Amino acid sequence: MAQPPFSLHGKIALITGAAAGIGRATVAAFSKAGAKVIATDRDPSGLERLPAGSDGLRTAVLDVTDPDAIAGVVAQAGPIDILFNCAGIVPSGAVLDTTRQEWQRAFDINVTSIFDMSRAVLPGMIERGGGNIINVASVVSTIKTAPNRAAYAATKAAVVALTKSVALDYVGKGIRCNAICPGTVDTPSLEARIAATGEAEAARCAFVARQPMGRLGSAEEIAAAALYLASPESAFVTGHAMVIDGGFSL
Ligand code: NAD
Repeated sequence: MAQPPFSLHGKIALITGAAAGIGRATVAAFSKAGAKVIATDRDPSGLERLPAGSDGLRTAVLDVTDPDAIAGVVAQAGPIDILFNCAGIVPSGAVLDTTRQEWQRAFDINVTSIFDMSRAVLPGMIERGGGNIINVASVVSTIKTAPNRAAYAATKAAVVALTKSVALDYVGKGIRCNAICPGTVDTPSLEARIAATGEAEAARCAFVARQPMGRLGSAEEIAAAALYLASPESAFVTGHAMVIDGGFSL
């Protein structure tokens, strides 16, 4: 019988930042498509709250800034077909509001983690003759910027650049690498940014107004793009930075 579109049947997918928001929605989308998912996050209680019952769902506590922990989780995971690098933070501030420590932390979590995760999974993918890496960047990157996002925009631009390098360097090994560039997405981290302003209603309206569609994106909409990029239907797509932003970048 023919498989439904976007089937990940028989695939093993490792997801970082899987306990909340876009990562959590992607755990559900990949599991529903038949993948065996290894959901990782630094937040153990969030992992425990993932819906039970997904066939083949495994969880592992993983802080992506710890290269030894990355090596351990990847070794335990067995062969990984799909790596979804989703863990990330959204630091606020212009250059003069950003300390060197904050800048470094943003790069550690948003960029160096993807470098370390990629280094951990690529040898196995090369040995098996193929693999698929999907990195979560942002439309605030090489595509556009936003006020008070200096470190964030720089990290996500680096994610887009790293994605293209991995795509080009390993295309001959059957490995694809793409990035997703979301606009403003309704997730726990966005809620926290809204609450932190102290003027939640006005802040929410301003975030909504950034999208010409007049609404926030949903984590499920980003997960649907991840599913497409993870699936054989996107077999000719590599090195792409896919914008999903309700028109924010227009
Ligand atoms: P979220 O905060 O709702 O979820 C992020 C998850 O990542 C959390 O479970 C958190 O525990 C985990 N995490 C954070 N640091 C980690 C670390 N060091 N190691 C392991 N796990 C860690 O965030 P979200 O909004 O779903 O964002 C997910 C990704 O999407 C991020 O890379 C973010 O930059 C990107 N993004 C989000 C938006 C948005 O508007 N929400 C827009 C563009 C891009």
